[in-house]
Amino acid sequence: MEVEVKNYRAELTGVFGSPVEENPTGVIEEAGYDEMGLNYRYLTMRVEKEDLEAAVAGARAVNMKGFNLTIPHKVAVIPYLDELSEAAQIIGAVNTVVNKDGKLYGDNTDGKGFLTSLRENGIDPDGKTVTILGAGGAARAVAVELALAGASKIYVVNRTAERGETLVKLLIEKTRAAAEYIAWTEKIAVPEGTDILVQCTSIGLYPDVNGLPDLDYDTVTDKMTCCDVVFNKPHTPFLQEAEKRGAATIQGLGMLVNQAALNFTMWTGEKAPVEVMTKALMGEFGL
Ligand code: NDP
Repeated sequence: MEVEVKNYRAELTGVFGSPVEENPTGVIEEAGYDEMGLNYRYLTMRVEKEDLEAAVAGARAVNMKGFNLTIPHKVAVIPYLDELSEAAQIIGAVNTVVNKDGKLYGDNTDGKGFLTSLRENGIDPDGKTVTILGAGGAARAVAVELALAGASKIYVVNRTAERGETLVKLLIEKTRAAAEYIAWTEKIAVPEGTDILVQCTSIGLYPDVNGLPDLDYDTVTDKMTCCDVVFNKPHTPFLQEAEKRGAATIQGLGMLVNQAALNFTMWTGEKAPVEVMTKALMGEFGL
């Protein structure tokens, strides 16, 4: 008779950040692991700036399957990794690491999650004109993925000129998209010809749930698709204003779940149970 050899060893995944307490990714990933009957864990870990190198060495030592990085580690982690994806190299930031037989491979799934969400809503960015509000980490990831997916023109609207111009330079030098910086003046008009308008600032993020980007909303048309990366709360004032002008809208929740689903597949090799993961996130936000 063959004796079944039990395996009690859990595969470890998680996130390093500070602050990290309000990051809901663990709920999404663990719902997926449970659904698939995988002996995986996702730990939400507070790691300070000065401890990142030790934390990554620790991840190697305990054979973590992989981990996410959030504020303030997305750029700082790069020197401690062995290899980077094309997108992570261009963006200059990593949000997901996979342990491939002891080698740490860094990728950036924020923008890819956004692209999946866009495509789920029937929008292909190829040949489209895009306007991005913001030039921070989320904006960089979204802009680079849109450019790699064939967006032909990208306008970057940002309050701080230096950050906006840096992103435009990056797009021009590293991708095939044409790009232009637009200074964020009061009640700015959405550039003519915009097909996709993406709100990538933190305006509207909890607790500032009434925050509304200063735009001339009468320049939003029913031909546009308006997307927000803010996911808490998901039905942002920006999306509400866009709906009033007849635009199609896409919430930030889809981007969050899709990037978590991509991480899930990178770590487990399994197709992610996206519906279950979405339900878990919605439950977390009382939706
Ligand atoms: P950063 O701090 O890197 O960038 C913030 C951006 O918002 C900057 O461009 C900043 O402009 C702009 N901004 C902030 N306040 C204002 C304001 N009052 N008026 C005009 N511009 C403003 O943050 P991230 O890019 O990392 O995050 C941005 C948002 O994206 C957050 O809400 C985050 O939760 C969300 N996010 C969502 C994800 C998802 O999966 N749905 C994934 C990742 C992020 P300036 O340069 O002038 O300071």
